[in-house]
Amino acid sequence: MKPHGSAHTQGRQCLHCGAPIADHIHKGRKFCEREVLADGSVQSCKDDFNARLRKERDESFRGRTALQKRLSIAIAALYKNKGERVTTDDLDRYEIPLEDALRQEPKGGLFDFYFHHHRLEQLSMTHLKIHPHAHPL
Ligand SMILES: [Zn+2]
Repeated sequence: MKPHGSAHTQGRQCLHCGAPIADHIHKGRKFCEREVLADGSVQSCKDDFNARLRKERDESFRGRTALQKRLSIAIAALYKNKGERVTTDDLDRYEIPLEDALRQEPKGGLFDFYFHHHRLEQLSMTHLKIHPHAHPL
């Protein structure tokens, strides 16, 4: 992060904090140099950068898992209350967006929407049939 008193004409920047990397520093370097701070802790843009990537990856995985869990519960509730034949209005009411399906498979101009515990078979533009999986995907 500290200026090196040398040229920065190549415009290289640390991938983590954006600080300029001096031209004389090895070409492969993408981060500021590791520094030991006055309190003894280590400042490493490379470590911080990797930690941030890891955190983002974990959070998006958790986010997707939480979403599919919520959808499974919502579809199960809809199935219990309305039976296997449902409408797109029902899906709206239960907050089950079809675009959140794990996968969509075209079938005769319509689609099968696969969720973790159910398959939603599109019967028409407004009607669907819920098929619980024998085994979760
Ligand atoms: Zn940096």
